[in-house]
Amino acid sequence: NNFGMQEALKALGVNRSNQGTSTGSKWYKTKGAKLESYSPADGKLIGTVQASDEKAYHAVIKQASAAFEEWRLWPAPKRGEVVRQIGVALRKYKEPLGKLVSYEMGKSYQEGLGEVQEMIDICDFAVGLSRQLNGLTMHSERPNHRMYEQYHPLGIVGIISAFNFPVAVWSWNTMLAWVCGDVCVWKPSEKTPLCSIACQNIINKVFEKNNVPEGVSCIINGDAIVGQLMAGDERVPLVSATGSVRMGKAVGRTVGERLGRALLELGGNNAIIISEHANLDIAIRGALFGAVGTAGQRCTTTRRLIIHESVYEEVKERLKKAYSQLSIGNPLDANNHVGPLIDKLAVKAYSAALRKVKEEGGEILVKGGVLNGKGYESGCYVRPAIAEVRNEFEIVQHETFAPILYIMPYGTIEEAIALQNGVKQGLSSAIMTNHMQEMEKFLSHAGSDCGIANVNIGTSGAEIGGAFGGEKETGGGRESGSDAWKVYMRRQTNTINYGSTLPLAQGIKFDI
Ligand code: NAD
Repeated sequence: NNFGMQEALKALGVNRSNQGTSTGSKWYKTKGAKLESYSPADGKLIGTVQASDEKAYHAVIKQASAAFEEWRLWPAPKRGEVVRQIGVALRKYKEPLGKLVSYEMGKSYQEGLGEVQEMIDICDFAVGLSRQLNGLTMHSERPNHRMYEQYHPLGIVGIISAFNFPVAVWSWNTMLAWVCGDVCVWKPSEKTPLCSIACQNIINKVFEKNNVPEGVSCIINGDAIVGQLMAGDERVPLVSATGSVRMGKAVGRTVGERLGRALLELGGNNAIIISEHANLDIAIRGALFGAVGTAGQRCTTTRRLIIHESVYEEVKERLKKAYSQLSIGNPLDANNHVGPLIDKLAVKAYSAALRKVKEEGGEILVKGGVLNGKGYESGCYVRPAIAEVRNEFEIVQHETFAPILYIMPYGTIEEAIALQNGVKQGLSSAIMTNHMQEMEKFLSHAGSDCGIANVNIGTSGAEIGGAFGGEKETGGGRESGSDAWKVYMRRQTNTINYGSTLPLAQGIKFDI
């Protein structure tokens, strides 16, 4: 029974066929398409989810709007208390939910558990935040006046998420949005709809116990068409969208057209610079996990290694050796390092990218290939590959969502930084070095142009405490920790006159 999958589905209330539109305790019957969720691990149909249709979409937005009227009046720490209880519930469901993430998306069970742990962590963060939604006070230039700013709830937050983090991205948005007083409508990836059903079931139990209004947590399953409904809807002041650059441009355009707010978390093309002053043990470990973890399907996956020419050959040899020891197979089996890609389309893109590397003159260092035979029946398993390339190759400039690592040599640190920055995306970057001056140069204004820049840790993964996101084509959005909460609220500046005259600003006279 595939590592206890049936028990996990039962615990999460995920059935063979599910409604995919909900405002909380209420599930809507729709005429939307049936989304079939096949596991990339074994190719089996896990279950189906009925997508939203336009009628159900409007019913959800109406309910969410009504819920907002009430939810925004709850004191923020009381909303935080509800989020605290969600954290407790997620601890209880960590194993089954981690298993479902692994089975439906294909990442290893350990990574599935890690993803649920991120959800728990953001709950804890949001609970503290619920007492710290602070604005500033300023000194007024006018006598007997006081000025300050406050942050108010924004309204409906639309969340569009990608398949590769089928539950964590939703929680990064919702937990903050909820303590901020917003209500959320989630359009999950059509490739991982069952994870959304599981999350909604967990939330429902907590919300019912706390009498949270119907409509604070909504889901609308479906594809880009459902996503576009939300992007174009003036009743949704903020759309937080995670996915490809192509999607971000479409969503950004639609939201921009109505001057709404878009938080975009898009693709990366992340590099590690391995200096001649690096501890190579750390460098190889960081590069290996960054490149093959989640089968290369993280937005922060290490796609490029920029290696100093004096250590280039040694790094190459050590990488080759490490790659030969990787075991590829069922992600639920803890003995495997690398699981499958999400679907056969992704496998096609992987094979096409390797062909393109050769066409452009790249050298294949570790040959990839699609796996078949016992254990690989789903047709979604591929071997991680390494190629020696030039940064300007068209294929290297492009994010292929698969375990293909590009390597290239460099001479000076300035050259390395130019290569690192020489792509359109700007998500995550790292340097492996023990040399203080080159480390500081990498982190300086003239250094990495990415939203994330690390030293002696790889590009992949991030802690929830920091603001997460990237520059350039990655979209510029920040979510999760630090002050990322501010995007979920509207800011208001208030001036109060407690005197008995009306002095005008800038000393302007207006006497009648
Ligand atoms: P995708 O762009 O195909 O789909 C993402 C989501 O957008 C899905 O829910 C999809 O239905 C929706 N969508 C697609 N086109 C749309 C449109 N025109 N209008 C409205 N909604 C639309 O991406 P994917 O294959 O699911 O995920 C992989 C991509 O996501 C990679 O590029 C990866 O780097 C990126 N990603 C980025 C981050 C980040 O935080 N920066 C995190 C995870 C994934």
